[in-house]
Amino acid sequence: MDASEDALIAELVEAGQLTAEQVEEVREIQGRLSSMGLKARTLLSLLQERGAIDQDTYDDLERRRRRASGGEQIAGYRLLDRLGEGAMGAVYKARQLSLDREVAIKVLSPDLAQDDEHVQRFLTEARAVARLNHTNIISGIDVGDSGGVRYLVMEYADGLTVADLLERGGAMDEERVLHVAQQMARALDHAHKANLIHRDVKPANILLTKDGVAKLSDFGLARLELDDADARRMGTPDYISPEQARGDAKVDERTDLYSLGATLFHMLTGRPPYVGPDASSVLAQHLTAAVPSVLEEDPTIDPRTDALVSRLLSKDPAARGRAKELAEEIEEVLKALQAARLSEPMPGAGVVSRAAASKPGASAAAPAPVRRRRRR
Ligand code: AMP
Repeated sequence: MDASEDALIAELVEAGQLTAEQVEEVREIQGRLSSMGLKARTLLSLLQERGAIDQDTYDDLERRRRRASGGEQIAGYRLLDRLGEGAMGAVYKARQLSLDREVAIKVLSPDLAQDDEHVQRFLTEARAVARLNHTNIISGIDVGDSGGVRYLVMEYADGLTVADLLERGGAMDEERVLHVAQQMARALDHAHKANLIHRDVKPANILLTKDGVAKLSDFGLARLELDDADARRMGTPDYISPEQARGDAKVDERTDLYSLGATLFHMLTGRPPYVGPDASSVLAQHLTAAVPSVLEEDPTIDPRTDALVSRLLSKDPAARGRAKELAEEIEEVLKALQAARLSEPMPGAGVVSRAAASKPGASAAAPAPVRRRRRR
């Protein structure tokens, strides 16, 4: 329970700006989300999402809540902006005063800070990140406790998450997706070599910097591969592997390849591989439904990309391959796509599209498929 949030909400109810029913409703939603192992959300953010309070009121209350919970005072850092809210708490942009540089600070939600399991998970993330050193992984800087506020300081990535991009503009350009995929394959190869499984690869955990570098973040569910006593925690249903969905006691690094495959599917088509009315229907499809094809969603996608994504989405982990091979394979597909693009006639010469030219067996005389307009 976040006492400061409760006090603010009580104030709103007293002032007649909220009804007790509205508060009860969001409490119930919050409880449901956390029992499903999904993102922890503050009551204020749920009230705002449901239109019970407007954005200005929310921003003001959120500021007051942070101040009251001590989230704005971390020795050695000056908190600047709130970047977002994850499963474990809020993330802020901050200035590290000693080195005069920008960093990102994840502050464990005050209600979770009292819960041993969550504190352990938070420390797991900190230790996991500390073991790794790779351009495509958000690096860890510090972890600490400032007057009861637990925080994790990380490298700051100036950009957007893939989830933000998908929300704004739907499907992404194929070559761009493959560049991100390759960087994620390298990041996973590095983590897997350190015996670390991410377990929650998804669009919201891939940050894209303004320079086009993709960085994997949020090792909150990561566990050392050797330590599988508590491997049953679920990731997000949209990208979860069948073995994680089943709650297998032992999952290995190939679970990350499946989740990367599901993420790539979403990036290429604008929707996750399986959709359904609720989480259990999505989970059931990850377990038993036929592997969907990105080509069926968009015929202009290169068949090699389609084959690669379908392979990553195999129900059988053995069929998915390893991260290192994946990075090499993507390099080959990218080279082929670039070569096909360069050999494409100038616009107006009208013979064959890049997609058709790169398809094995495609003839120049065949009608060029209509390339759906991509937004980015
Ligand atoms: P998370 O708790 O890791 O899911 O983070 C919540 C949100 O904070 C993300 O969706 C990002 O928008 C933002 N964020 C997290 N880590 C960073 C970082 N290192 N640099 C910049 N933004 C971040």
